[in-house]
Amino acid sequence: MNLVGNAIKFTEFGQVSVTITPDPSTAGRLKFEVSDTGIGIPEDKLGRIFEDFTQAEASTTRRFGGTGLGLGICRRLIERMGGQLNVSSEYGKGCSFQFELLFSLSDREKLLDSEQTQTLAGRRLLILDSDPTSRLILTQTCEHWGMLTYDCSEVSEAFEVLNDSAQAEKPFDLVIVDRFLPNDGFEFAVAARSLHPTLLLVLITSQEEPGDLSRTQQLGLAGYAVKPVQRPELLHLISSAFCSAKEGRRELISPRQTAIPTSVPPTKKRLLIAEDSEDNRFLLEAYLKGSLYELTFAENGERAVELVRSQSFDLILMDMQMPVMDGLAATRMIRQYEQMSGEASIPILALTANARSEDREACRAAGSTAHLSKPIAKSRLLSAIEQYCPQRFPSE
Ligand code: ADP
Repeated sequence: MNLVGNAIKFTEFGQVSVTITPDPSTAGRLKFEVSDTGIGIPEDKLGRIFEDFTQAEASTTRRFGGTGLGLGICRRLIERMGGQLNVSSEYGKGCSFQFELLFSLSDREKLLDSEQTQTLAGRRLLILDSDPTSRLILTQTCEHWGMLTYDCSEVSEAFEVLNDSAQAEKPFDLVIVDRFLPNDGFEFAVAARSLHPTLLLVLITSQEEPGDLSRTQQLGLAGYAVKPVQRPELLHLISSAFCSAKEGRRELISPRQTAIPTSVPPTKKRLLIAEDSEDNRFLLEAYLKGSLYELTFAENGERAVELVRSQSFDLILMDMQMPVMDGLAATRMIRQYEQMSGEASIPILALTANARSEDREACRAAGSTAHLSKPIAKSRLLSAIEQYCPQRFPSE
C-alpha cells in the first residue's frame, strides 16, 4: 500500500503499475514490482531513501506531504519476511520498487466466481482500447474466466477482425470498447452494430460525460461502466450482457447507475467543505450544526475535485492553503470540469487567511464566487452561505 501510495502521490501524468510474477522455478515465490512514470528520484538520493525521515526533495514535502517513514517501514517488513526491497529510477522519468518473497501454498480449491464464469468460458471477446494497460488488464481478467480474447487499439483493425471472424463463421460474442478510443467509441458502436446487428457491445470510459448513459440506452448497447472497472463489476457487466441477450431483453447494465441513484433529488442543500485543518473542519461543522445543510468534507483540493466530479453540491467552501492541491488549483479544475461537462457552475466561497487585495484577485481569477477572510465569525459565514445558497436556518 505504501509503495503504491507513493507511486500515485509522485506521478502526475502517465501510469502506475503493480506487477506480481510467479517464479517458475520455485512454487510460491513471487516477484512484486511497483513502477510509475512520475518525478523519479535523483541518483545521489537513491541510496538514502530507505532511511527513516528521509525525503528525496525537501521542496516536494510541502506539496506532497508525508513523513519520510514509509519506505523505512516497508524495507524492514520485507526483510523480516525474508526479502529485500530494491529501487531503480531515472530522474524525471519514474521509479520502480521491487522485492521477492516466498509464500507457502494454500491447499484450498479456487472457490471464486465459478458459477458465473462458467457461462463466459469459450465466448469470443474483442477488446478495443487505445490504452495498452487497460487492454492488458481486460485481456488477462477475461482470459482467466476462459474467454477467448482479441485486443486491438485501432478502429480499422477492429472492423477487419469483426468482418474476418463473421466470414469464418466464428463471430465475436461481445465487444468491450473504450468511450474515447481516442475517437468516439459511440460512433464505433453504431457502425459496428449496423454491420453486425446481433453484436453485443459494452462501453467503458475513463470519464463519464453527461448524457452518456442515456445515449448508451438509446443505442441499445449492452452495458456501460466507468474505469477502473473492478473484477466483480466487470464480471457482472459481461455476464449480465449475455443473460439479457439470451432472454431477449435490451436492458442497460451499469453498475455505477445502480450505485448512485442520480434521479432522486437531495432534500437538503449540499455543502462541500474543502479544508485540511481538522480544527477548522470541527469549527465549521459546529457553526453549521442545526442548519438544514448537509455537509461533506474534503481534506485537500484534489479530494474536493474528485467529489465534485462524482456527486452534486449546491455550494463549496474552499480553503486556499491545503497540501496536495491548493484551493486555487482546485477551483480552477472545478470550473474547467463544469465548462467541459456543461454542468451548472457551483458557487465557491474562498476561505483564506490572506486578506490582501491581490489574494482576493487571485481567488476571483481562479473562479471563486466570493472571498471570506479567516478568522470567520459565525454570523458572517452563515449570511454568505445563505446569500449564495438560500436555505432557511431554523433558529438563526
Ligand atoms: P513519505 O512519502 O511519507 O515522504 P517515504 O518513506 O514513503 O515517505 O518516501 C521517502 C521519499 O522517497 C519520498 O518523500 C520521496 O521523496 C521519495 N519517493 C518514494 N517513492 C517515490 C516515487 N514513487 N517516486 C518519486 N519519489 C519517491
